[in-house]
Amino acid sequence: MEKNLFRIIPKVDILLETKSIQKLISQYGYEIVLETIREELEYLRTSILKGIQEEEALNQIENLTYKIQDAIIEKNQFNMKKVLNGTGTILHTNLGRAPLSSAHISKIMEIASGYSNLEFDLEKGQRGERYSHFEKLLCEITGAEAAMAVNNNAAAVMLILNTMAKNGEAIVSRGELVEVGGKFRIPDVMEQSGAILREVGTTNKTHLSDYENAITENTKVLMKVHTSNYRIVGFTESVSIKELTSLKKQYEIPVIEDLGSGVLINLEKYGLLHEPTVQESIKNGADVVCFSGDKLLGGPQAGIIVGKKKYLEQMKKNQLTRALRIDKFTACALETVLKEYLSEKKAVKNIPVLEMITRPLEKIKQAAKTFSEKLRSEDFPAEISVKKCMSQIGGGSLPMEKIESMAVMIRPFSITTELLAKRLRSLTVPVIGRVTEDQLVLDMRTFDEKDIDCFIEMLKKEQIFRTER
Ligand SMILES: *Cc1c(COP(=O)(O)O)cnc(C)c1O
Repeated sequence: MEKNLFRIIPKVDILLETKSIQKLISQYGYEIVLETIREELEYLRTSILKGIQEEEALNQIENLTYKIQDAIIEKNQFNMKKVLNGTGTILHTNLGRAPLSSAHISKIMEIASGYSNLEFDLEKGQRGERYSHFEKLLCEITGAEAAMAVNNNAAAVMLILNTMAKNGEAIVSRGELVEVGGKFRIPDVMEQSGAILREVGTTNKTHLSDYENAITENTKVLMKVHTSNYRIVGFTESVSIKELTSLKKQYEIPVIEDLGSGVLINLEKYGLLHEPTVQESIKNGADVVCFSGDKLLGGPQAGIIVGKKKYLEQMKKNQLTRALRIDKFTACALETVLKEYLSEKKAVKNIPVLEMITRPLEKIKQAAKTFSEKLRSEDFPAEISVKKCMSQIGGGSLPMEKIESMAVMIRPFSITTELLAKRLRSLTVPVIGRVTEDQLVLDMRTFDEKDIDCFIEMLKKEQIFRTER
């Protein structure tokens, strides 16, 4: 019986001649079709050897072309996909942190699809600097003397310490030895940079005298790290940049600050907790400040460094900079996004991260209402409701901050909520939600209203509420 089955498996040459396979070849190319045919035939032979039922084998042979087609389509799918964010976490590190607006992207497209003056001084007709495109802007916005950017903020910390404190000591408070996401630990990065970490104070309290008493002739910098993703509350004390810089009169040791989030506008105005701005840090006398480009700033992934020209110049000459430098997309994106900050009103409106943070609850309520009504009118086997919820900033910024928001809740009747969540993740455009109290929650602060119709179309077309497997 086995032998007979093997005999009716179509030959590669014969398959290649068929009309449907020919069509696949013209669409996807010969090599991938041939490779896939071989894989599918091999799979079939193995199944037969393992002794599958004759009926099942015949069925597989009959559907062979479809299986080949599905496999080729699968291979041609992109692994990296746009997803819809219903989690309510605005700076979701796993979902790519800060989204850029299409207006910003079209500028980047223009630069990326051709040649540019990335490192070319158009006036002098000679080599220029890649930071020149946004350095002036950063100085104007933050009040610093000089600026540059590297791959991310972890790289910025490393470069600063390597330039300013290699083989010397960097004094930092025990209360600020943070681990941010992805196992990035301040003490470990400091070690990698070649600086010796001198911890002072205790977890909850560090005084100015702790820093002062630790100063030796080997001390190169005093460092302050913003405890982005946690807060020590209660009986606490930390030393401000202003106090640290007061020691400069006597010791002339530069003060550096890793701000993490890098907020450039005062968010208190919009009802949020106070987050120290880059401008404040510079104004209070920090010599060098670094922060992320894709956290509260709302731009591309980058580590931005601003501060005294003397130190920035040393950093630009450091060999490490060559390994950590930003590419042309990032340079362009930084200039494009930073330009918005010339007017706070423009920034809050045109930078998606800031727009989402400051979006009025009323607008979100309206979107939730529209969304739920559209869902209900489709008569899906599910209970649709609207409920208050809390959004988060995320990305290790403002950890205590919860912003009032509105969610659309879906409680499926005939499948489990977990299965619904799983199927939403496997849609053509995957949708990521939260599951709470056996309902699927889509927070409308991060779920773009423009995507509602496309989402409902996918629910229908991809039969998301089907009861079978
Ligand atoms: C987020 C953060 C970093 C790391 O920044 P990346 O841009 O993600 O590399 C470093 N320090 C602090 C305090 C942070 O909050």
